[in-house]
Amino acid sequence: MLRFSRVATFAALLATAGVAGAQSADADSTVALLRDLIRANTSNPPGNERRIAEVLAPRFKALGFDVQIVQTPDSGKAHFIARLKGDGSKRPILLAAHADVVGVEREKWTLDPFAGEVKDGYVFGRGAIDFKGGMAVFARAVLMLAERKIPLARDVIFLAEADEEGGTYNTSWLAREHWPDMDAELALNEGGWIMKRDDGRVRYVSISTADKSSIALTLTARGTSTHSSMPRPDNAIFALSRAMAKLSAYEPPLVITPATKQFFTTLARTSSAPMSDYYRDLVGTDAARAKRADSVIGKDPLLHALVRNTIAPVIIQGGFRNNVIPGSAQATINLRMVPGSDATAFVADLRRVVGDSTIEWKLPTTAGARPSAPSSEDTELYRALEREARAEFPGAEVTPYLFQAGTDAGAWRSRGIPVYGIYPYPIDADELSRMHGNDEKVSIASLKQGTAMIYRTLMAVAKKP
Ligand SMILES: [Zn+2]
Repeated sequence: MLRFSRVATFAALLATAGVAGAQSADADSTVALLRDLIRANTSNPPGNERRIAEVLAPRFKALGFDVQIVQTPDSGKAHFIARLKGDGSKRPILLAAHADVVGVEREKWTLDPFAGEVKDGYVFGRGAIDFKGGMAVFARAVLMLAERKIPLARDVIFLAEADEEGGTYNTSWLAREHWPDMDAELALNEGGWIMKRDDGRVRYVSISTADKSSIALTLTARGTSTHSSMPRPDNAIFALSRAMAKLSAYEPPLVITPATKQFFTTLARTSSAPMSDYYRDLVGTDAARAKRADSVIGKDPLLHALVRNTIAPVIIQGGFRNNVIPGSAQATINLRMVPGSDATAFVADLRRVVGDSTIEWKLPTTAGARPSAPSSEDTELYRALEREARAEFPGAEVTPYLFQAGTDAGAWRSRGIPVYGIYPYPIDADELSRMHGNDEKVSIASLKQGTAMIYRTLMAVAKKP
């Protein structure tokens, strides 16, 4: 379902490249690779990411990459690292993609989630968007550099990682064990979105420069453990329930980072009234207007989460039999912190909201550590991404973005290495809602545009001048 504007863009690209046939074959190769990646079922748990290494290794070896399969202590789990050598005049650039996917509710899919089926211009399957589609785009862009024998000023490293969706042997593990193999000056990962309008044109491209951090907070209420026939006022389950009720009614205040401000300003510029006014007010200086805007915009759970630290109870435990009042009850609350926020201060706010000094609050010891700073927008890679996004999607706005969840980018950001995130294909709201859901799919036209954009970005950042 190619639209005229897309045909025109692609044709312009072909003309620039001067190798029409080769270019179109490259785009088809992204689709073929994605289908193979989807067919390697890496639902995590258990993951079995080694399967992805086996799909990728022959393709990279054939083109002269240094290929390394890093075995973890779990036999099914491996990381895949491929390096294309530059002349060393600049430090490496790294492209990272997680090899695992979340599981499926098979009965809710209309197509086989692990067959890589193509239908109506889309590739279907678990991971089509998150993140095997991105892995296929990143891998093809990197492979194209080798196919065309582009002379490089820096090494280009491609990494397919294990355990991003959960588990122990993720990039933090890899960084502890194999840092020299993944050390780079700049890195690209999943994160921001290339969002389409209803008419299919791209509305904006958001490039994530920071992720929220995730913290498990535990609340423990204690009371007298005794026979349930003689209840006392100090019941642990009642006390915990009162605390949870107070937290459920509490709305944490707005925390607007510079990237968030730019993101909403972009939304304002690309929307019509009244939403454009609400987006502008949300990040403006008038607190009352911001509050009113928040009450409208916050109905969208994603946008609600972008502008504050969030609290989500995820586990509750207490009691073990019908005739015993338990001595304690415990809740685990998942906190998602905006970069720069102080978790200890946020928990102090929550304690005031609950107002019960008998409840014990516990943050993990690592939560006090300073969260990684957002990656700078003033780097070669960010500027190249911005320029190539504008070139590929004329008329689209480009903005930095705070990613509402966590990714595995922390391994680099915590070491001061800039990481930029993008799901490198235009998608719409319906396609986005299928991520981690059912009938996940990515459009073939979008994969082609993403491959072209990332390839040109790499040419700008890594090619020898
Ligand atoms: Zn992902």
